[in-house]
Amino acid sequence: MTSLGSQLVKPMGKEAELYRRLPNGRIQCTACARNCQLGEGQIGFCGVRGVVGGKLWLLVYGKVMAGHIDPIEKKPVMHYRPGSRIFSIATTGCSWRCLYCQNYDISQRRKVEGKALDPDEAVTLAEQRGCEGIAYTYNEPSIFMEYARDVGRIAHKRGIFNIFVSNGYDTPSSVAAMGEFLDCITVDFKGSGETSFVRKYISIPNADPIFQSLLEIKEKTKVHIEITDLIVPQVGDSLEAAEKLSKWIYDNLGPDVPVHFLRFHPDYMMMEFPVTPVETLERHYQIAKKAGLNYVYVGNVPGHPAENTYCPGCSKVLIRRHGYYILSYNLDEDGKCVFCGYKTPIVGPLSRWAREDRFQSVL
Ligand code: SF4
Repeated sequence: MTSLGSQLVKPMGKEAELYRRLPNGRIQCTACARNCQLGEGQIGFCGVRGVVGGKLWLLVYGKVMAGHIDPIEKKPVMHYRPGSRIFSIATTGCSWRCLYCQNYDISQRRKVEGKALDPDEAVTLAEQRGCEGIAYTYNEPSIFMEYARDVGRIAHKRGIFNIFVSNGYDTPSSVAAMGEFLDCITVDFKGSGETSFVRKYISIPNADPIFQSLLEIKEKTKVHIEITDLIVPQVGDSLEAAEKLSKWIYDNLGPDVPVHFLRFHPDYMMMEFPVTPVETLERHYQIAKKAGLNYVYVGNVPGHPAENTYCPGCSKVLIRRHGYYILSYNLDEDGKCVFCGYKTPIVGPLSRWAREDRFQSVL
C-alpha cells in the first residue's frame, strides 16, 4: 500500500463500488484477491484504487493509457467469434507484479495517467473502427472493473461484445460484476500456477484464488472461458505442474475449454532468460491432450501445427491459422465440422475481418 500524499486530498476518477467498510474503520477493496485494507489517503497494491473522504475511488476511471485495434486471436481467444477485430484498452496499474511483464510500462506504472475517454466515447471509437468486440487487456482489468462494466454495458446495447484478458485473481464480487456485461474471458496462468513460481516471479502467495474464480465464473455466469499458461523456461516449465493444471481443467471446467501454452519472450527484469524452446511447449501440449483436453494450442510460435483447431470427431483441421490469421474455416453456422458433423462449442460466425490486417493504433 502507498500513501496518496498530501497533494491528493480530493477525490479523483469515480467512487468505486467493489469495497466495504470494516468495523475498524478501514476500507477493504474487493476488486481482486489481494483484498487490500486501506486507511485514509492510502492506495492499494495496484496503484489505481485509493481512499479519499472515507470512500474508495477508482482513480483511473475514464483514463485510458493504451488503445489499439488487434485480432481476437492475439488475446489469445480461439473459440469465440474467430477473426474478430477488437478494440483493446487498458488503464495504468496492475494487481500483479510479473517480473517478465511485456506491458510493464503500463501495468507497473503506479500513476494516474492516460487519455480521458468516457464509456460512451470508448464504445463510439470501437464502432467507428468497425470493431466487433472490446477487450480490457494489457493490465489486469478487474482493478478498473467499474469503468470496464460501464463501457461494457453500453457496448452490449450497441451489439459489441466484451472480453477480459485477465490473471483471474478475483473475488466473488468481481466475478458477479463480470456476469453483468462480460461475454468472454481468457484467464492467464503463469508457470502453470505453481506456488514456488508465482511467489517469486509474480508476487502473489499462491494461485488458489484463480481456481476459485474460475469455478465461480463457470457456475454463476455465462462467460465463455479460455485458459492460457505462460511457460517460462528453467523456472516455470514444470511438466508435473502442467499435468496437474490440465487435470484440474478437465475435472472442473470440462474437456472443451481451450488451453493455450504460450512461449515466453524475455522482457522487463528477466532479460537474461531464453525464449521457451518449442520442444518444451510441445511436451506441455502432449500432457494436456493426454489429460483428455480436446482443444490445446501452442501460442507465440507462428506456423506451428498446434495453432490449428482439430476436430475431436474426425481429426481434420477445423480452423487453419498462421499467427493471428485464419487461412481456412471448416465449421458450419451451428459450429459443426463440415467433414463429419461433430458439434463443437466454437461460437461463430467467422468475422469478415479474419483475413485482413487487424492491427491499428488508436490512442
Ligand atoms: S484491486 Fe486489488 S490490488 Fe487494487 S486496491 Fe483492490 S484489492 Fe488492492
